[in-house]
Amino acid sequence: MMELGATVCRKGVPDCAKCPLAEWCDAQKAGDAQALPRFVSKERKEAVVERALITREGKILLRRNPHTAKRLAGMAEIPVLSSLGVEPAGEPALVRRRTIGTVTYEEKLHALEPKVVEIRRWAKDGELEWVAAEALDGAALSGPHRRWLGEWLSRGGRTARGKRP
Ligand code: SF4
Repeated sequence: MMELGATVCRKGVPDCAKCPLAEWCDAQKAGDAQALPRFVSKERKEAVVERALITREGKILLRRNPHTAKRLAGMAEIPVLSSLGVEPAGEPALVRRRTIGTVTYEEKLHALEPKVVEIRRWAKDGELEWVAAEALDGAALSGPHRRWLGEWLSRGGRTARGKRP
């Protein structure tokens, strides 16, 4: 069958006169063999993800995916805001876009100052960890997250309210 596709039924130039399958072929009977195959482009989608850039005592709050996760198992990421139970304060410190498959994500990275009550609450979340800024190289961050954190820290890691963490 693969040989037929390579030598007889070639895209745009099918040689139906020499084809051993011609008597069973609906495309040939319908007279549109040359127009096949028709490719339908996949629908593209857009999504917004809001994440939290949070530092405390020189450490950065990260969420580490469980080793049983289907996606990025064991990898660390900048936490999604909603997973921390906090709201963005003002404009994001960074906005970056990336495409995964058919979805283009607008990643809004908000720099926040943690409150004591929030830090206590996050301590009960086994996927959250504080990683020292100088230890980020060994933190198993995914590429984009490592880059975004590097950009933010290189600017001084300023919070939305303009204070250093
Ligand atoms: S008859 Fe059908 S299968 Fe054969 S070459 Fe034409 S389009 Fe392809």
